[in-house]
Amino acid sequence: MPGSSRGALRAALLYLLASAIWLIMIGQILSSLFDDSAQSLRWQLINGYAWVLATAVLIFLARARVLRCFGLGDQGRIERERLRMAAAVFDSTLEGVLVTNRLGNIVHVNRAFMDITGYHEDEVLGHNPSKFKSGRHGSDFYRQMFHSLDQDGRWSGEIWNRRKSGEIYPQWQTIRAIYSDAGHMTHYVAVFSDISAIKHSELERAHLTQHDPLTDLPNRLLFHDRAQQTLAAAQANKRGCALLLLDLDHFQSINDSLGHTIGDQLLKAVVTRLQGLLGSGVTLARMGGDEFAVLLEDSPQAAHAATLAQAIIDGLKQPFLLEGHTLFISASIGISLFPSDALGAEQLLRNADSALFKAKGNGRGGYALYTEELTAHAQQRVEMTAELRRALAQEELRVYYQPVHDLASGQLVGVEALVRWMHPERGLVPPGEFVPIAERSGLIAEIDAWVMAQACRQMCDWQAQGRELDFIAVNVSSRLFGRLDLYQQVARILADTGLDPARLELEVTESAVMEDPDSALEQMHRLRELGLRLSIDDFGTGYSSLLRLKRLPVQKLKIDQGFVAGLPLDEDDAAIVRVIIALGRSMGMQIHAEGIEQPEQAQFLVQQQCELGQGYWFGRPMPASDLFPRG
Ligand code: C2E
Ligand code: MG
Ligand code: MG
Repeated sequence: MPGSSRGALRAALLYLLASAIWLIMIGQILSSLFDDSAQSLRWQLINGYAWVLATAVLIFLARARVLRCFGLGDQGRIERERLRMAAAVFDSTLEGVLVTNRLGNIVHVNRAFMDITGYHEDEVLGHNPSKFKSGRHGSDFYRQMFHSLDQDGRWSGEIWNRRKSGEIYPQWQTIRAIYSDAGHMTHYVAVFSDISAIKHSELERAHLTQHDPLTDLPNRLLFHDRAQQTLAAAQANKRGCALLLLDLDHFQSINDSLGHTIGDQLLKAVVTRLQGLLGSGVTLARMGGDEFAVLLEDSPQAAHAATLAQAIIDGLKQPFLLEGHTLFISASIGISLFPSDALGAEQLLRNADSALFKAKGNGRGGYALYTEELTAHAQQRVEMTAELRRALAQEELRVYYQPVHDLASGQLVGVEALVRWMHPERGLVPPGEFVPIAERSGLIAEIDAWVMAQACRQMCDWQAQGRELDFIAVNVSSRLFGRLDLYQQVARILADTGLDPARLELEVTESAVMEDPDSALEQMHRLRELGLRLSIDDFGTGYSSLLRLKRLPVQKLKIDQGFVAGLPLDEDDAAIVRVIIALGRSMGMQIHAEGIEQPEQAQFLVQQQCELGQGYWFGRPMPASDLFPRG
C-alpha cells in the first residue's frame, strides 16, 4: 500500500477515535449535571472539560491530516492554485500543449493546441494522439520515439501531423514523461510549435536558388537539371525533345530609354505571354537577362519545334501596353533537337545557342535550327548567292518604282525604288526571297549600290523629260549601312549620275539604326554632309529609343504598313499612328505612311496631318516606263 494512503487511514482512525472520546466526554459532562454530589460535580466538570479540550485538539489535527491526505487541506489548496497557474501559463503560451494519461488518452490540451490543430478540446479529450498522425512517418519513427521516452523519459524532434482541416504540417515537439512521487509514470506532456512558417522560409530560400526572382521561372541551374531528367526520360521512351533558346531583340534599348522598371515589367509581360502560348509538357526558364529557354518534352520532328518557334515570334510581335507605353518587341530563336543534334543537356544548350546566333545573324525576329536542315539551308544560301552574283552580272535584276503622293493634294511627289529579280525560270522574284540571303552573304551592298545608281540615273532621265519629282527613295540594308565606305559609295554615284543630292533619299530601317545607335549617328551625319535626305523605314517595328531618335539627323519617318493596315477602325493601330505622327512632327520630321490600300486609310491619315502616302491605293511598284509612259 502506498505511504500516503496508509497515512490517510491512520489519520481517519485517529479522527474517529478522538470524535468518539469527545462524544463520550460530552455525555459524561451532561450526565454529571444531574448528579447531586457537588464535589463529584466539580471534579467531573474539570476532568470532562480537559478531555473535551484534548479530544477537540486531536479531532482538529486528525481532520487536517485527513484533508491533507485527500488533497483537501491547505496543501491541496496550494496545489490547486499551482495547477490553476500552470493552466493559465499553458493557455497563454504559443506552443501547443497536450497531456495524456499513462494509457495515452488525452486529458488536457491548451488553447494554442486548439488554434494550431483546429480541434476543440471536446473533440480530443479521451482520444489517443495517433488521431493526428500525418502518415508521413513510418513505424520505425514511432518505435524510436517511444524507446527514447522509456529510456530517458523525454523525446524531441520534428514531426509531421495533420490538422483537423486535413492539412499536414511540421511541428517541433518535446514530449516528457511525468512520474509520481512513488516513481510511477502517470502522464505524458507534449509541447509543440508549428514550424510550417520556418519550413516555408527554408523552402523559399531553396526556391530562390533555383528560380529567377523577377519572373519566378526556373533559372539556368534548375533548367539544366530538368533538361537532364527530361532527356533521360525521353531516351527511355524513345521520344524526341527540342530546346528553343529565345532572345529578345534590342531589349537593352528599352532599359536605356525607358528605364529598368519598364524593362522589368516588359520581361514579366513577355513571360505571361509565353506561358499563354506554351501548352503542357513544356518547361520555360529564364536563362538570364532577356534570354529564355523552352524545353519541349515531346517534339517528334524539327517541323514541330519550328512551328512553335514561329508561333512564339508572332505572339511576341503584338504590342505590349505598359504604363501608357506601347512597346514593340521581336525575338530570335535558336532550336536544337534531341537526339538528332545532341544527346546531353549541355550539348543541346550549346547547339541551341549557336542556332540562336545564326538566327540573329539572319536579321533577327526569326528562328534557326541547329540541324541538318540548317546545313541544307546554308547550302541553299550558298547556291542562291552564287546565282544572285550571276544575276547581277547578267543584269537580271530590275528596279521598280512605287509612287509616293502628297496626301492633302493627292499629287505624285516622289517614288521609292524597289529591287526585283527577273529569274530566267522562276519569273519575277520579290525582294523578300533574296534580299535576306544577299544581306547574309554581303552581296546586298553591291545590289544596293546598283539599285541606287539605277534609281539616280532614272531620276535624272525623268528630270530631263520634265517630270518633276521631289525625291527618289532608295533602301539601304543594315549591312550596307554598317559599312564605313557607304559615304564614298554614295558620293561616287551622285557624282557619276549628276543627280542633285537634295533629290535623293536614303531609307534606313529602325532596327539597323538601333543595332548600333552610336555608329548609326556618325554614319548619318556623314551622309547628311553630302546634302541628301534620310528617312527611317518601317518605323514602329523595331524598338527605338526616343531619346536617340531625337538626336538622329533624320528628316522623315515612314510608318510601317503593319499599323496602316488596321486603319481607321482598329483602335490600337489608330492610337499608334496618331502617336507616331505627333512624335515625328514634334521633332520636325515629315511623316510618310506605307501600305495604303483603302481610301479610308488615306482619309484618316490626312486628318491626322500625315503628309505623304504610298500604297497599292495609289499604285503598285512598277517599271519606270509604266510610271510615266512615254509619248
Ligand atoms: P519597304 O522598303 O518597306 O518597301 C515597301 C514594301 O511594301 C514593298 O515590298 C512594296 O511593294 C510593299 N507595299 C507597298 N504598298 C503596299 C500596299 O499597299 N500593300 C502591301 N501589302 N504592300 C505594299 P517589296 O517591294 O516586296 O519590298 C519588300 C522589302 O524589301 C522592302 O520593304 C525593303 O525592305 C526591301 N527592299 C526592296 N528593295 C530593296 C533594295 O533595293 N535594297 C534593299 N536593301 N532592300 C530592298
Ligand atoms: Mg523602304
Ligand atoms: Mg517600309
